[in-house]
Amino acid sequence: MKPLDAALNADMHCHSTVSDGLLTPAEVVRRAKANGVDLLALTDHDELGGLAEARATADEIDLRFVDGVEISISWGDDQTVHILGFGVDPGNAELLEGLHQVRSGRDSRAGRMAAELDKVGIHGAYEGALRHAGNPALVSRSHFARYIVEQGHVKDVKSVFDYWLAKGKPGYVEHSWATLEDALRWIVGAGGTAVIAHPGRYRLTAAERRQLFVAFKDLGGRGIEVLSGSTKDEEVREFSRIAREFGFLASRGSDFHGPGESWIDLGKMPDLPADLTPVWTQL
Ligand code: AMP
Ligand code: MN
Ligand code: MN
Ligand code: MN
Repeated sequence: MKPLDAALNADMHCHSTVSDGLLTPAEVVRRAKANGVDLLALTDHDELGGLAEARATADEIDLRFVDGVEISISWGDDQTVHILGFGVDPGNAELLEGLHQVRSGRDSRAGRMAAELDKVGIHGAYEGALRHAGNPALVSRSHFARYIVEQGHVKDVKSVFDYWLAKGKPGYVEHSWATLEDALRWIVGAGGTAVIAHPGRYRLTAAERRQLFVAFKDLGGRGIEVLSGSTKDEEVREFSRIAREFGFLASRGSDFHGPGESWIDLGKMPDLPADLTPVWTQL
């Protein structure tokens, strides 16, 4: 592949029905194209199962495509952090096996979540979430949120997180995902480039965040998502400074999950600050 231009409208972060998105991989790719995206990475949670369909569709409609993944890790004191991998080999055995193990914890966690939700008056949540997920290995808080909205408890998915599913709320349960070391070993071992997703979304102090960046860089991590669907302007400035200081590549992604359910639509983010090196130019 010839080097990709810094000026492309790249969207390096989105989800399909193969994790907790609402559109199939083919639908995501077509929507990206219609929105003016030049380069797309599909980054389903702990899954590579949508990449073949997404790539085939992208080839068909002449959209540049990068094989991606978003790996859930546990870091520090029960913090969940997401690590993006770009340009991974979707056939890499160690990556596939690692992701399979990460996913295998989702079903029992869903059972524990449903038991907690039952205590606060939300009944039938395991079955309800599973109906939305379609597969126990994929069931996520997003699927619980859709069920809870459907039951009429609150008006939207975001409110469900605020009341029940965010850390510290009644339906939140602790869970062990992969380690930071695992995620880096799997991504780098599969020929990929590792990037910390949405660094502003973790409840970490500034000092803890720096520790995360240091540990990530030591393990071979290359970049941070400077622009995500949910980043505020002051965070963009802060993460741009971090990228310069640590020598990180910069990523830009919507984290699109579906129409009406996301901060921002595919490809609709502002541009990265011009002095940063976009991660896609180095894949
Ligand atoms: P899980 O991997 O099961 O813990 O679910 C995490 C997913 O929940 C994320 O990938 C988002 O799609 C979604 N999510 C997390 N926090 C929020 C929020 N505050 N509002 C809407 N969706 C959220
Ligand atoms: Mn998600
Ligand atoms: Mn994420
Ligand atoms: Mn995501």
